[in-house]
Amino acid sequence: MTQPAPNRRDGRVQLLADALSIAARGWPVFPLRPGSKVPVLHGETKCPRTGACTDGHAKPEQRATTDPDRIRTAWATAPYNVGLATGPAGLVVIDLDPPKPTDPPGTHSGAQILEALCQATGEQVPPTYTVTTPSGGLHLYFTAPTGATMRSTQDILGRHIDTRAWGGYIVAPGSITPAGAYSVTDDRPVAPLPAWLQMKLTAPPRITARPLAPSSAPHSGGRRASYADAAIRNEEKNVADAPEGHRNKALVRAARALGRLIASGDLDRDEVEQALSRGAEAAGLKPYEYRSAITSALNWSIRNNPAGRRTA
Ligand SMILES: [Zn+2]
Repeated sequence: MTQPAPNRRDGRVQLLADALSIAARGWPVFPLRPGSKVPVLHGETKCPRTGACTDGHAKPEQRATTDPDRIRTAWATAPYNVGLATGPAGLVVIDLDPPKPTDPPGTHSGAQILEALCQATGEQVPPTYTVTTPSGGLHLYFTAPTGATMRSTQDILGRHIDTRAWGGYIVAPGSITPAGAYSVTDDRPVAPLPAWLQMKLTAPPRITARPLAPSSAPHSGGRRASYADAAIRNEEKNVADAPEGHRNKALVRAARALGRLIASGDLDRDEVEQALSRGAEAAGLKPYEYRSAITSALNWSIRNNPAGRRTA
């Protein structure tokens, strides 16, 4: 377990080691400001649209890496805390907070509320890799279901229960804030997200007036997982439905999600490019606006999602 380090250099070395060991599990990391939960990199409102952000602001989850060399470079200068990009890590982390100081006395903790939910439904939460937070909260790590894009949620399961998946991140063990350290308190292997939790966390599909574009032809290899078909249809629709001002971002997000399925061999790149192009056209984008965005987002995703990483 990591203890607060006695000085800045030792703290940096320890946090670098923590970042490397998390990345070695196949979980992409990015630096958080020393002693804090805030990413080092600029936020969307201050985006200079240069470098990694040339095609639109790259969020921490898009810049997070498992590459040891990049991690050593990033952690060379300061004792950065470790952000873990849950979406690309293939994780869904249940974040159980204690009651806040401003809550009325007797307010239940997230852990108590989850327990009550289990009793009410007759379901269980299996033991899994667990991290304790400085405030006394718990992070329960689960592997995300294959093929389903789980988004981060807030208060869907109950008050003081958030989940971190795509669109979010968590502070990884080893990180230190003025309140204390994030520590692994159960080091067992990460359990799969129980199906009943997946169902509760997955919002019903949005109703839309726009008809779906015809789905693409079956994979030339014959049968394939229906989730790959569902993913390509859903992402095409997400792009088609994106309102103006969000279209490029939706396109990049969709391409990066589908790129993972190209990397894993579940989808064929041509087919993905065609589906995304149809979605972009339906959203009103012009070829010169979407072609290079699709290419670079797919390249990024394939580069960052080597096949088989989810089983690491
Ligand atoms: Zn940016």
